[in-house]
Amino acid sequence: MKTSQELQQLRAVLLAHYDKNGRSLPWRIRPKDREAGAIADPYKIWLSEIMCQQTSVTAAAPFWHKFLQKWPSVDDLANAPRDEVLTAWAGLGYYARARNLHKCACIVAHEYGGQFPKSEQGLLKLPGIGPYTAAAIASICWGEATNIVDGNVERVISRLRMVDIPLPKGKGEIHRLAGKIADPQRAGDYGQALMDLGSQICKPRNPKCGMCPWAFACKAKEAGFMEEYPKRLKKQKRPIRYGAVFYMQCGSKILLRKRADKGLLGGMMEVPGTEWTLVKQTIDTLLLSAPVRRNWQVCEQEVVHVFTHFTLHLTVFTAQVGKEQAGIWAHLDRLDDYALPSLMRKAIHLAQK
Ligand code: SF4
Repeated sequence: MKTSQELQQLRAVLLAHYDKNGRSLPWRIRPKDREAGAIADPYKIWLSEIMCQQTSVTAAAPFWHKFLQKWPSVDDLANAPRDEVLTAWAGLGYYARARNLHKCACIVAHEYGGQFPKSEQGLLKLPGIGPYTAAAIASICWGEATNIVDGNVERVISRLRMVDIPLPKGKGEIHRLAGKIADPQRAGDYGQALMDLGSQICKPRNPKCGMCPWAFACKAKEAGFMEEYPKRLKKQKRPIRYGAVFYMQCGSKILLRKRADKGLLGGMMEVPGTEWTLVKQTIDTLLLSAPVRRNWQVCEQEVVHVFTHFTLHLTVFTAQVGKEQAGIWAHLDRLDDYALPSLMRKAIHLAQK
């Protein structure tokens, strides 16, 4: 088959498959919605794209509804105190996204008159919007002919064309090949169709090639090597870090503090604790960092939490006190009012066992 003919066919069959089987997502404008007059709202699309970075659609959807209910427009979000936004985000993880979300809302509301820039290049200037997100928003909202490539798309293209350069080095080649196929006419639908193909059919394990509209052209399928793509450089073992938290309870309140603004979990709340080190400290050494001298009890179990670049083992100390010292004392029934990341919720849960 001639290259141009094949490209036309790849686009046509993928879009036909999407028209018939594309997922209905709360933020998605399906072709039939568009025919009925619906148009994509950049604020809603931007929120969904930021929330779905490193998070599944199922986990992100309730947060998306909650945010829109609390802050129906980008101006509302910009005018909300940042701590309130972080609290509403708690549980979704990767908290730099929430800090950038608020920063971006402030810029759009105060410097762009409440309107998102109407091009991929313009969107790229905003905090928290990288190449993938800019391409997705520009194509979905304004039909700009962009080239949307995320992890799902990398997998599909590397299999379709059997790209042998391992990731991350192979990203450039995959991007180039994806750009050749991208449909300039129905750019937004095409990008969403390709993401659906990656997440629903061309899965990392057991791809459903029998249901795939691109099976006719897929080199990896023809060779029977689907799961061997994308090729990857051997992963380094994730290092372990160690630390401790000091859970102090006074009646029905516990002591919390706010983390520094920069760095991991920046601006979130935490149970006071130690630095996280590569070497495990003894119990006696950890206790030197306790906020007060008490008869601290140590929990038998540790909290184990996996971050992208390391695994954290957290020792949990507990103590009951009769009087509140200076600091933020949170009522145990009202912890949802605080921006507590999952790690800290796990530590609190363990301390209460
Ligand atoms: S044929 Fe199979 S391996 Fe190839 S793109 Fe489709 S689902 Fe993926």
